[in-house]
Amino acid sequence: MRSRPGSIKSNTGAALADPVLQEALAKLKTGFQAKRKIAAANLPEFDALRDQARDMKRAVLDDLDSYLEIFESKVIEQGGQVHWAETAQDARDIVLAICKKANAKLIAKGKSMISEEIMLNHWLEEHGLEVVETDLGEYIIQLRKEPPSHIIAPAIHLNRKQVASAFKERHKELDGDRPLDEPRALLDEARAILRQKFLAADVGITGANFLVAETGSFVLVTNEGNGDLTQTLPRVHIVLASIEKLVPTLEAASLAVRLLARSATGQEMTSYTTVTTGPKRAGDLDGPDEFHIVLLDNGRTAMMGGPFEDMLRCIRCAACINHCPVYGAIGGHAYASFYCGPMGAVLTPALAGLEDWAEMPDASTFCGRCEQVCPMRIPLPRMMRAWRERAFERAITPAATRFGLGVWGFVARRPWLYRTLVNLGMPLLAMLAGKRGRFAQLPLASGWTKSRDLPAPEGKTFLAQWEAYKKGGQR
Ligand code: SF4
Repeated sequence: MRSRPGSIKSNTGAALADPVLQEALAKLKTGFQAKRKIAAANLPEFDALRDQARDMKRAVLDDLDSYLEIFESKVIEQGGQVHWAETAQDARDIVLAICKKANAKLIAKGKSMISEEIMLNHWLEEHGLEVVETDLGEYIIQLRKEPPSHIIAPAIHLNRKQVASAFKERHKELDGDRPLDEPRALLDEARAILRQKFLAADVGITGANFLVAETGSFVLVTNEGNGDLTQTLPRVHIVLASIEKLVPTLEAASLAVRLLARSATGQEMTSYTTVTTGPKRAGDLDGPDEFHIVLLDNGRTAMMGGPFEDMLRCIRCAACINHCPVYGAIGGHAYASFYCGPMGAVLTPALAGLEDWAEMPDASTFCGRCEQVCPMRIPLPRMMRAWRERAFERAITPAATRFGLGVWGFVARRPWLYRTLVNLGMPLLAMLAGKRGRFAQLPLASGWTKSRDLPAPEGKTFLAQWEAYKKGGQR
């Protein structure tokens, strides 16, 4: 499941020193964040919808087996086929077998985080198939042989020049001197090339934003329309979705769609919202002859009933990522996981194991903005803390940190000792800092001081101020 070598710790330095990345990340505030704020403010019932969506999804998860059975029977009734994949390898094998049976050479793919999770492209290419991503951002990073750096804006880390040079390098059949300075020129070129791929593809693979139990349909939202072309033009369509994407009814799906677009991009609706049920029927002008749904578990049922079950409500809107100060500083590639930011910090250890991913839940300031903006009211900080506790209990946390936390725990559990040390330490540190009022270096605080000064304590302790406040005095 690793999308890049290294870990957050080892990748962070390079990310912070990358000027193009930093310029791209600076736009999060004026882009996604600002637009979501306006969209939420323009919908007075936004918070009430969040409560409804949370409750709806909780009810589905409480009875997921039944909803999955209903969904399966409805898909079959409509002429589709359902495949159950317990592991990533099962899903890869199922998709490959369908492609081989269809005698496929070229696969058109709509954006799908599940296919990233199971590393599908690599697998299909290894078996001699050509796979073309049709979402523009995904297409660009495919040309650059990179993983996505964001779950809804996969090429957010790149600027126009980098895209133009990727096009010049990989579209060898075109005139090398063509002008590609304008976004329009890039768009036109990608569109012309992808159009040929849509028409030639034998199999289309898409993800699904929601699976609807009552009708056996799936809902797909895109802003480019590529998902619709991917599912209607090829002879065979495969939907790759994880089991928690179930919603009970079309009405429940519309509730989730209203939240998704506003939380993700600040739009009222995405440009294309398509509900598809089964393959092409007699009389239909277009659509695939075969319609397959691959339902992936890959660790999700193990999350049910435990401290991380709430994460299964996630609708992949990326609001938590867009508002996370850590993501805003280092971008998605630094996480080394396809799922990044706060949602990735909870989901990745759950799916791929804490042993390899214990650093991810540490990459949070616990400012709580992720939970504040999450449309599904997922308690992300609580779950990241739960991972930290598990890492500590299983001795995965580094020994020095464990020792430090142990000392802290010993002191914090003895208020008299805590107060004595604070009352002695505060004036001592203030005196040592002198007139400058800050430390450029301090033993045990090098992690902080290697990139900035540490301010010396000023005035009275919080506890002293609190006592004074309770007595009605001045703080
Ligand atoms: S955790 Fe919440 S905010 Fe983050 S992607 Fe999922 S639904 Fe969106």
